[in-house]
Amino acid sequence: MTLPMFKNPNLKPLAPGAVKLLIIHCVANKCNRPFEPETLINCGIAKWGQPSYHYYILRNGDVIPILPENVRGVHAKGYNGCSLGIVYEGGLNEKGKAEDTRTEAQKHAMFELLKDLTEEYPDVHILSHCELPRVAKSCPNFIASKEYASLQPENRGTKVED
Ligand SMILES: [Zn+2]
Repeated sequence: MTLPMFKNPNLKPLAPGAVKLLIIHCVANKCNRPFEPETLINCGIAKWGQPSYHYYILRNGDVIPILPENVRGVHAKGYNGCSLGIVYEGGLNEKGKAEDTRTEAQKHAMFELLKDLTEEYPDVHILSHCELPRVAKSCPNFIASKEYASLQPENRGTKVED
């Protein structure tokens, strides 16, 4: 997907050396209703003047790149200058209650994306939005630092060679 936003000169740069965190979010839409990438992009533009996140993981496991990795997102107050934002489709159950609604395909895609990104940015930590200080909401409704403990910098480098 090519977005005209990519050419917007007002997007603020994000140097590769600046990226210290991969922050996981949910859209917080009901998981039984699709939330299209275009809708996510338009919500960001309406609210912040640009898309909010770098990667969007759909229910079917597709990973949609939204912002290039060298520009700032708008997804975690106080941390946008040192992080990439990754968001999954869903986050509310069919009754509208906050829940980890990731499908197996989403979990698999998220792990693979995070694995690639930790290879690209060797000292990054993985965190849920709700693990940041002073974040009241439960987004993304699971604790990413624990789920992805094996990908954290202190545990990397111990991988078995294939
Ligand atoms: Zn969030």
